Amino acid sequence: MPRTGEKPGKGTYKCRNCGVEVTLDDDNDTLPPCPSCDGTEWDKVG
Ligand SMILES: [Zn+2]
Repeated sequence: MPRTGEKPGKGTYKCRNCGVEVTLDDDNDTLPPCPSCDGTEWDKVG
């Protein structure tokens, strides 16, 4: 699974802990910590 600090590429990622979604719109963007719960594990959803 993608984790905070990785560059998994463009797409939408959903926090495994709380369900918040973030979108990366550039392949060079780094996954942030979850803005809601500070989680670091993500699932790609789109
Ligand atoms: Zn979260």
